[in-house]
This record gives sequence, C-alpha cells and structure tokens, in this order.
Amino acid sequence: MTLRVAVVGSGPAGIYTAEALTKQVAGPVEVDVLERLPTPYGLVRYGVAPDHTSIKSIANYLRRVLETPGVRFLGGVELGEHLSVEDLLTCYDAVVYCTGAMVDRTMGIPGEDLPGSIAATDFVNWYCGHPDAPDFTLDVAEVAVIGVGNVAVDVVRILAKTAEELRATDIPDQVLTALAESRVQRIHMIGRRGAAHAKFTLKELRELGELLNADILTFPDEVAVEDLTDLSRQIRGNVDVLQSWSTRTPQDRPRRLEVRFWLRPVEILGVSRVEGIRLERTRLDGGRVVGTGEFETIPADLVLRSVGYRSVPLPGVPFSEQSMTVPNEAGRIRDREYVAGWLKRGPTGVIGTNKSDAAETVRTLLAEVTAEPSRPTLDALLAARGVTPVTYQDWLAIEAAEEKLARTLDRGEKVKLVGRAAMLDAFGGSSQRQADQG
Ligand code: NAP
Repeated sequence: MTLRVAVVGSGPAGIYTAEALTKQVAGPVEVDVLERLPTPYGLVRYGVAPDHTSIKSIANYLRRVLETPGVRFLGGVELGEHLSVEDLLTCYDAVVYCTGAMVDRTMGIPGEDLPGSIAATDFVNWYCGHPDAPDFTLDVAEVAVIGVGNVAVDVVRILAKTAEELRATDIPDQVLTALAESRVQRIHMIGRRGAAHAKFTLKELRELGELLNADILTFPDEVAVEDLTDLSRQIRGNVDVLQSWSTRTPQDRPRRLEVRFWLRPVEILGVSRVEGIRLERTRLDGGRVVGTGEFETIPADLVLRSVGYRSVPLPGVPFSEQSMTVPNEAGRIRDREYVAGWLKRGPTGVIGTNKSDAAETVRTLLAEVTAEPSRPTLDALLAARGVTPVTYQDWLAIEAAEEKLARTLDRGEKVKLVGRAAMLDAFGGSSQRQADQG
C-alpha cells in the first residue's frame, strides 16, 4: 500500500524531508511538497545572497529530489488560506511542517518602528527578489547594521559592493539599478558582545576583507581578547582577522565599513524617520550582556536590524511563543503531524544541517505511521475550491524565463523575475487562473 505524506514548505528542510521519505520508506511512497509561493527552494532562492553562487548551487541537489518519482511540487498552495490541517490529515497519512523562520526577531527598543528602521529579512528578501518584499531605494549615506551574524555579513557585503560586481548574479534587474544608484558611503556593523562572541563564520568574514569598493576597519580596544587559549579555531580565526583590520590603512575607497563591538542599541533616534542610533557600551557579567552607562550615538539614515529570524505560527498547529518553534519530540508534534528544519529547532546551523534534522523526523514518522487506503486526493479538494497549483513543469517555465531574461539583459545565467504576475505569465498561469475564476 502507498504511504502518502504532505510536506508543507519547499525550502531545504521540506525537500530534505521528501528525500528522506523516498529513501527510508521500504514500500511505495507519494510525497506532495506544498509551497505557498510559485517557486520552490525557500531560503536557497530567497535567503542565500546572490553572490554566494556555490551555496545557491544546492538548488541543483534539491531539484533532483523534486524530480524523483513519487515526489510532486504543488506551488501557490497555502496552509490556512487554501486548506486546513484537517484537510491535510484527511488526504494524507502524515503531514510534516517545514515552513522555516520567515520573519525577524525584534529588539524591543524605542524607535524600532520608525521609517528607515528595516528588518534585515525584508532587505534580504528584496535583493533576492522575493515576491512579498517591499521596495527599497538606497538614497542614504550612513547605514547601521545591528548584529554580527552571517545575515549581517551578507547585508553589509551587498551594500558595500558595486552594482557591477553583482551584475553576473541572478539579482533582479530593478535591485541592480537601485544598487547602482546607491549613495551609501559608510556602514557600521554593530555587535553587542566581543569579537570572540560574534556569530559569523570565518569564510564569510574574510570576504569582507576582500571588498574592492570599501575600506574596512575595526578598533583595537574593541577587538582585543584577553585569553585565546580555550577558543575554537573558527573563533580564533575570526579574532585574528578582526584584529588585523584594526591596523589597516584606509585606501580612500568609496565606501567605509566599520565593524564595532561591545555596543548594544538602546534607542533608534529620529522624529519622522531614522536619524541615528544610540548605543551603550557593554561588558559581560557572568555571561550576561550588561550596560556600562557609557553611551555613543552614531548617525544613520537607515538601520538594518539583523538580530536573527523567527518562525511564525501555522494556523491549527501548536506553537511555543517562548522558543518560537513547534514543540516536538524528535520531530513528532502529535498523531500523524511532524515538523522539521528551523520550525523544529530554531534558526541555527547551515543549510546541510537540515538534512540530518529531516532524516530524524522521518525516522520518527515511519516508526508510527501506516498507510491507509481510500483517502480522498488533495487534487480533488483543491479543484473543488478553484485552486490551480503551480506544477513542477510550470516552475521549469519560470526558470526558463529567468534564463531568457539574463540573455536579453546580457547578464549571467539567470535573472530573477520579480512579482507573482511575472512568474505566472512565464507559464501562462495568469490566463489559467482567470479561466478558473471565470
Ligand atoms: P545569528 O547567527 O543568530 O546572529 C544574530 C546576531 O544578532 C548575533 O550577533 C546576536 O548577538 C545579535 N543580536 C540578537 N539579539 C540582539 C539584540 N537584541 N541586540 C543586538 N544584537 C542582537 O542569526 P543570523 O545572522 O540571522 O543567521 C541565521 C542562521 O543562518 C545562522 O545559522 C547563520 O549561520 C545562517 N546563515 C548562514 C549563511 C552562510 O553560511 N553564508 C548566510 C546567512 C545566514 P548575540 O550573539 O549577542 O545574541
């Protein structure tokens, strides 16, 4: 008998879950990967920076999973909008939620909501061409980026590079134009703890030191570390690189990047929009970040808050507001419902971490779920509701249109289409939907 599983979300966690199911199930299995967007790959498409082409090539691996017999991609189908948890449990033997962590964490400081104070998630979505991203112009000179993780490093690098350096990537053409018109001169990246506590990885950090268009500097007293002995190689590497930047002589490059430490934001300043950021110097007290009572104000026309992602609750699925994840035991939520990826464990690790994470969830699932015959199909349910999913073939047509656009614009291999309408047009989906509605 065929085991039928719905995977909600087509990012790395969702697709690794589909792969684990095809590999671990002894008998026949059908996996439907449901996705609210018309496109698969989640953060690989809309989170990995456009110039990180080797990480983006993970999409080639994920593609092979979607092309495995028994696996189907169903785009434009949203849990809570087009169907409910009950619908899924009626149509499938089990459901695995893999919707990741789509929104930003907040700092809870005054001024956070001022115009010009932007979540890094929105900025990343914008330069990655996410259909729900707001539009940006970079008509600003001073930018403060809060946080010293890999997302902050991505954001800073994209802000610091020239548009020409990004031309061969798949960055949307309107984003490239905005970057070409950018007036950004000075970027401050701000960590609330020390150089040895920063979350970015060495490889990503080193790339900042190779920027052609920006001088990079740190301050010796802020990157000093008393004792390096118990630190990992990775952290010692970070500290070495950061300390070496404190002795660099600026080369009068068009942009300047200052990486700051031991400063925590206490207020984003401004009347009708962001004008600066007030920071308090910090120290650690028993591992806790505490303020010293010394303050510093940095002028900023734009504040990008890169203090981590968080998951959002799914309608009808348990959620812990404390951990911002779905409570689970080795991936099990409750009878026939499972979770994998960032929604299961929080926004940590590299993309590959989701592979072992998904495999664990699938092991849990297979230990208790059995196939049941004569379930209704999701296709009939969606058709009855007038929902036409975006198929894998439709997605291939979107990809082909992106390759064609790159040739037309004389840019790299692909240029991302922006907006649902352009994507649907690529496979005649707009007319299909009109026909369905008519
Ligand atoms: P992250 O690694 O958790 O970094 C968040 C940063 O925000 C930390 O420096 C944190 O400082 C700081 N922060 C948190 N709350 C703050 C507050 N209230 N005030 C000031 N600073 C605050 O998160 P991320 O950068 O969003 O990355 C998410 C995951 O994606 C990570 O696993 C990352 O490695 C991965 N990623 C990888 C790549 C890559 O491999 N190239 C690229 C992008 C993302 P504390 O440490 O003091 O809390």
